Amino acid sequence: MKLSFYGAAGEVTGSNYLLKTTRANVVFDCGAFQGGKDSELKNMAPFLYDPRSVDAMVLTHAHLDHVGRLAKLVRDGFAGEIYATPPTIELAKLVMEDSAVIMSHEEMKFGDQPMFRAEDVAKAVEKFRPIKYNERTQIADGVEVNLVDAGHILGSASVEVWADGRKILFSGDIGNSGAPIINDPVKVEEADYVICESTYGGRTHEPAQEQKKFLDEVVDLSVARNGVLLIPSFALERSQQLLFNLHQLLEEKKIPDIPVFLDSPLAIKATEVFKKFPEYFDNETKSHLDHVQDFFDLPSLKLTRSVEESKKINTTPPPKIIIAGSGMMTGGRIKFHLREYLDQPTTMIFVVGYQADGTLGRRLLDGVKTVDLFGEKIKVKAQVKAKGAFSAHADEPQLISWLKGVKSPIKELFLTHGDPKARDLLEVAIGKNMQVEIEKPRFGQTVELE
Ligand SMILES: [Zn+2]
Repeated sequence: MKLSFYGAAGEVTGSNYLLKTTRANVVFDCGAFQGGKDSELKNMAPFLYDPRSVDAMVLTHAHLDHVGRLAKLVRDGFAGEIYATPPTIELAKLVMEDSAVIMSHEEMKFGDQPMFRAEDVAKAVEKFRPIKYNERTQIADGVEVNLVDAGHILGSASVEVWADGRKILFSGDIGNSGAPIINDPVKVEEADYVICESTYGGRTHEPAQEQKKFLDEVVDLSVARNGVLLIPSFALERSQQLLFNLHQLLEEKKIPDIPVFLDSPLAIKATEVFKKFPEYFDNETKSHLDHVQDFFDLPSLKLTRSVEESKKINTTPPPKIIIAGSGMMTGGRIKFHLREYLDQPTTMIFVVGYQADGTLGRRLLDGVKTVDLFGEKIKVKAQVKAKGAFSAHADEPQLISWLKGVKSPIKELFLTHGDPKARDLLEVAIGKNMQVEIEKPRFGQTVELE
């Protein structure tokens, strides 16, 4: 049996692994590359395997770096079925449709060739087959899988795979234990081979349970200053967690009822999907739902779907909270709000997610004094604050604890989905805690699983 790494090998994005067993070819995740200079070229390049030869595909979760090239795989001839949890299927559909729209706009504006089109997304969506957590299923000749809750975003999964008499475990993205709404990651006790993410190797977050406290602090500060609280946010999970935290704070009378704008059409649609799957929520959220009709319905929450509605946010006087994408401030509506409010010392930019090198979010965190937005030079007078408590990813101690959950001897552990430095740090930390042979695969590398 052979395993090939066609993405997220020495970097965070582009997850894509091909497992060739004696009887079938199965692909795990098919994500887009993001952030790096050459990411567009890598996304447009042909697959290094023939999509027509793939029998089945498993999707761990709906983030773009796991699903972003799936419609392209289908366009290029993949004819099998795509297995994922029901929430992942619905969220992945939104994410793929959203990226098809963005690419078609770029095609109209700049003549850029899109990676795929809306019709490819529609074809991909037809191939989805739902499997719930813990429903062991045969997906190809001689290949069975079981999805377990990875606690990363709604519906996210780690994948147990049985093939050729061996058991392989793909971590997917492991969540941050204690995060609201979703359950904590489930540990798997047995595996011969493990493929594990390493996003936050070398890092320890503040506890996720403190999210609410940190949010309380920045809201209070913004109210005291009569300023604008800008929260650049990823559309899936983070936005819903922020709304949930705000709802709890308001209910506990810790913050005043100030206007909150959810200024992201994708986040609004994703929130609708969340409402459909209450059985996937953790106990805290379920019990909160017992006495609240709908925890997304903040009294002063405004959902701004159209561009006109988004522009009107400026006319509401501070204090106010604006949650908008994109999460790393590389595009989306947050950039318009930054142009409006970055030069005001009363503004707080609250960073709640991973900021890759080279992104505007990273530069602001690094303390740049001016930024270029839409051809204008804007002075940065706003306060920029970041909290790792809001991360959707496990930190290093949590990754090690998840790996230690495997009680059987691991023949080989492959570290993926991390920048080289984070991956090296995690390798060292694992070496201190466990007896296991560790591999750090390169892009395009194939390994034999005996
Ligand atoms: Zn993810």
